[in-house]
Amino acid sequence: MKIKILRDKCISAGTCVAIAPDVFELDDEGKVTLKNEKGADEQTIIDAAKSCPTQAIEIYDDEDKRLFP
Ligand code: SF4
Repeated sequence: MKIKILRDKCISAGTCVAIAPDVFELDDEGKVTLKNEKGADEQTIIDAAKSCPTQAIEIYDDEDKRLFP
C-alpha cells in the first residue's frame, strides 16, 4: 500500500493525525507530512484518509491502483 499526500489540498484540520498519529504529522507550516508509512495498519490509514475533509490523502495499492478516494 502506498500513501500519497496532496499538500496543496491540506487545510490543517488534523483529523488524519488524530486517527493515525504515527503515520501523519503536521509540519511547521501546519501541512500534513508522512511520518511513517507503516505506522498503523492499512484499515486505520484508510480511515485517516477518509476523515480528511479535503481528500488530501490518497491511498494506492502496490499495483498503483487507487483504493481511496
Ligand atoms: S485531515 Fe486532511 S486537511 Fe486535515 S491535516 Fe490531514 S491531510 Fe490535512
